[in-house]
Amino acid sequence: MKDERIYLSLSQESGYEQEYIQRALKSNWITSGGPNVDEFENELQNYFENENFVAVSNSGTSAIHLALILLDVKAGDEVICQSMTFSASANPILYQNANPIFVDSEVDTWNICPENLEIAIKDRIEKGKKPKAIIAVHLYGMPYKVDEIHSIADKYEISIIEDSAEALGSSYKGKKCGSFGAFGILSFNGNKIITTSSGGALIAKSKEIKEKAIFYATQSKDAAVHYQHSEVGYNYRMSNICAGIGLGQMKILEKNISLRQANHSFYKEIFKDIENVKFFDNLNVDFFSNYWLNAILLETEEQKESLRLAFNEFNIESRPLWKPMHLQPIFEKYPYYGNKVAEELFERGLCLPSGASLTDKDKNRIKEVIINFFECI
Ligand SMILES: *Cc1c(COP(=O)(O)O)cnc(C)c1O
Repeated sequence: MKDERIYLSLSQESGYEQEYIQRALKSNWITSGGPNVDEFENELQNYFENENFVAVSNSGTSAIHLALILLDVKAGDEVICQSMTFSASANPILYQNANPIFVDSEVDTWNICPENLEIAIKDRIEKGKKPKAIIAVHLYGMPYKVDEIHSIADKYEISIIEDSAEALGSSYKGKKCGSFGAFGILSFNGNKIITTSSGGALIAKSKEIKEKAIFYATQSKDAAVHYQHSEVGYNYRMSNICAGIGLGQMKILEKNISLRQANHSFYKEIFKDIENVKFFDNLNVDFFSNYWLNAILLETEEQKESLRLAFNEFNIESRPLWKPMHLQPIFEKYPYYGNKVAEELFERGLCLPSGASLTDKDKNRIKEVIINFFECI
């Protein structure tokens, strides 16, 4: 009989979710918004040291869209976006009929490259348009070079939307990812650090902006006894049932992060003895990745693919890194500033199973495949 499949990143319950879901059902708050939503927002605000204001939404993608709306991104505007990311970082730019401008990664954190970012900003200004916003991503939980990126953004007075979908629990110089930008966003999709089955959050800098986000997320209802609307509205609010799952998940947030750290140590130990494989790790003590996913860089694209197939033969999922946005059919017509860092990462990089639910038995199976693979070459 075949062993059970080991997935890249699976969610797991804390056991407390049922209680909060029941509470919502019993009190007839089977709605979008409600007491669980308020409580979940409060817990998240607490987590961000009450220096930020959190509005939860029905996905991380809708949170990015709300951030763009709140930054007044309109048709024809330009928004800079890290090319090496999941498409959800960039799609909301198109929802606004704005134009994405893609920027390459640097080799240390695999995130947006400061040099190319500045080249892009200067060139866009020269061409007649200053970008309205920058979407920077903490890929696989690894903080981007916060000081460098934010000092460039400050210099040109451009707001940053910090895509922390994968980085809940990560920090840079001791400060939590999600709290650096004009806006941060989180995702509670099923494969992220904690889940609400589907959901997200917008992290804002004031109560007024948080309330404006909720206004847009609940169909832009003007203050009137009847339904009156003077702006476009969206149905983006989190449901009270999903927020109940989120409250249950908050109880295992710290545990999930430490389990991901343990997975990282497990891989680090294996790869320290394997030559010519670069293991993705914190650059220095300023960086604290939650290690949402562990990843390696192999020597060639062929080697990456044969390792992926070797894992697959033993029913273990592994996956190439994100295919850069400027190489995607939907985005390839937009400007791109960079060398070939993101391309190379895509060609030679592989993500390894990193879920909080990996057992010792799973780890043994994974280790065996890796050891056998590298002994054969
Ligand atoms: C998951 C993810 C998102 C989107 O979040 P959803 O909740 O799935 O909409 C955005 N950006 C990145 C980098 C992600 O990994």
